[in-house]
Parts: sequence; structure tokens; C-alpha cells
Amino acid sequence: SLTLGIVGLPNVGKSTLFNALTKNDVLAANYPFATIEPNVGVVELPDPRLNRLAEIFGSERILPATVSFVDIAGIVKGASAGEGMGNKFLANIREADAICQVVRVFDDPDVVHVEGKVDPMADIEVIATELILADLETIERALPRLEKEARKNKELVDQVEETKKAQAILEDGRTIFSAQSEVKSALLRDLHLLTAKPFLYVFNADESVLTNEERKEELRKAVAPADAVFLDAKVESELLELDEEEAMELLESIGQTEAGLKQLARAGFHTLGLQTYLTAGPKEARAWTIRKGDTAPKAAGVIHTDFERGFIKAEIVSFADLDEAGSMAEAKARGKVRMEGKDYVMADGDVVEFRFNV
Ligand code: GDP
Repeated sequence: SLTLGIVGLPNVGKSTLFNALTKNDVLAANYPFATIEPNVGVVELPDPRLNRLAEIFGSERILPATVSFVDIAGIVKGASAGEGMGNKFLANIREADAICQVVRVFDDPDVVHVEGKVDPMADIEVIATELILADLETIERALPRLEKEARKNKELVDQVEETKKAQAILEDGRTIFSAQSEVKSALLRDLHLLTAKPFLYVFNADESVLTNEERKEELRKAVAPADAVFLDAKVESELLELDEEEAMELLESIGQTEAGLKQLARAGFHTLGLQTYLTAGPKEARAWTIRKGDTAPKAAGVIHTDFERGFIKAEIVSFADLDEAGSMAEAKARGKVRMEGKDYVMADGDVVEFRFNV
């Protein structure tokens, strides 16, 4: 499954956040046979629609979609110079599907800041710079060969063009992700550039920032098009030891109405370009993870590969219509249940039953 790699400077709260993520690990509870890797934290994607489906279908249990975060250890500064841990750091990032940087905004004289002061945008730049340098190196290695091939194969001319464009963006100190509207990313795919991966920023903040909408908006704007999540990592790890009522009280005491991990799960899912469709029956109400743009057979394949191969059609009702109708029978009576074929592109929140041959 797709993962977000957690990175960040030392002492920004990565371990604290990661501990909260693993404490909240849902694999053990819901998937007893899943292998649990020590450096992976799996969290549920909150989805109130599943509760409603369980009500409509009398489902015994609810299985939400999940989001996986990988803890990427290793030094950051100098990583692009390719020494020891630095190399490993870049290799781990290469394996992740998106990059989730924890950025310190909390002020605490007892916690040393490696760069001497709390400056979130400067911290973001430190990591971006290492990734940008690594990408520039990748391009410098690839370009001469690509140019040579393009002299024989005209189809590669566009690719050379785009690669040079990417190089200019990187030399300008920008990530490919932040400049995604300026490049044809399909033509850069073979380069596996690190900064072409989607970015997500987790601002580890205290109450003074969490309740300061203006400051948050400023940071949000500064990192766009990347998503930004604001949370207090220390509080998040404390929340998991409290019952629901106490947890709400603690959140309210820092001006929040929802756990930061829930926001992080949603943002992570969005950053990975994923969406869900839903199935429901007496046994379970469940969300399944697919990529945006996936067709019905592809979606069926997530349940079982046989479903994709033997796909005939999908019976689909949107969650909103089913919710309003209150039952499948009523949704059908209202003409809200559609039969879709193999070219149908799934929409988020489709409630589905697949018909297939085995
Ligand atoms: P890492 O090096 O990025 O993994 O950082 P750690 O998670 O080990 O955190 C470094 C120190 O900062 C620890 O003493 C944490 O208890 C503290 N810390 C982490 N998050 C917060 C926070 O949100 N607020 C405050 N005040 N301290 C925090």
C-alpha cells in the first residue's frame, strides 16, 4: 500500500508524533494477521458514513480505510552529499509515495532547536534543499544520456525539454511538486525525482499557534499546494491514554474540536491521491482504498483479484442518495441505484456491489 514518509529536523517532535501514530495503530485490532512493521504507523481514515451504512445494513462491524506513515530516520543536512546515514535517508524517501515533514512551531526553551531558533519556513527549506540537490544530481547524471538518445529518437525530444525545465526549477530552489503546474510530470516520471513526490507539512504547534487562525493561514499559504496540518504532538500522544470525554476536554483546552491525528489521516490520504468507495452488508460496513480516477474493475480488484478479472458490472448508489433513502430497497424504488460497466470511473463515496464471474 502507499505510504507517507515522515521526515524532519531533529527535535521537532517526529518521534512524539510517530509514537502517537503507532499507539493508535489499527492493524492489530482489525487485521490480526497483518504483519506489523516497527517503523510503520497505520491510522484509520475517519469516515462517519460507515456508521450510517452499518445502521442501514445492520452491519456487525466497521472497517475504515487506513493510511500508513513510515518513520524515516537519518540525518538530514548533508544527505545529498551522500554519506552514510544521508544515503540511507534519501533511499528511504525514494521508497515513500509522499513526504510528510514535521515542522516545529512550538516554543519550548527546554527543547533545543538544532538551527538555533524556531523558524518553520527555514526548517522546511533545509530539507527541501537536500532533496533538491539530490534531484539536481539525478538530472545531471541522466541528461547527457537522454540528450544523446534524443538525437536518434525524436520521441525523446520532449522529455529532454521537460528535464531541462525541471532542472531550471530546481536550480531556482523550488521543488517539482510546488511547480507541478509548470511541468509535464508524465515526462519526468522515469527520473523518480524526490521533490516530485507530493508533500504534506505537519506543524507541531502549541496552543498559541493552534488558536491563531491568521498565523495558520500564513503558513498554509506558504506551503501551498502542499497540505498543512496543525497539531500538538505531545497532546496527541496523551489523548490516546484518555477516555473520549477526557480527550475532548484536553483538546478543547488547546482550542481544538478534533484530534490532530484525524486531520493528519485525512490530509495524508488526500496527499497520496487516494479515495474510497464503500461496501456494506450484515457482516461489515467497509471503506476500500483506490486511486482517484480508478475504474470499476480496478476498484473491484482491491477486494479480490478475481473480482477484477471476472468483472461484469457494478451496482452503485451514491452514499448521499442511500443516506436519504434510508434503505437499498427505497433507493432502488427512487431510481437511485445504477448499473455501471467496466469503463465507469469511481466517485468518492460510491456504495457498491460488484457482479462478477469466477
Ligand atoms: P524528534 O527528534 O524530531 O523525533 O523529536 P522528539 O519527538 O524526540 O521531541 C523532541 C523533544 O521535544 C522531546 O523532549 C519532546 O517531548 C518535545 N516535544 C515534542 N513535541 C512537542 C510539542 O508539541 N510541544 C512541546 N513543548 N514539546 C514537544
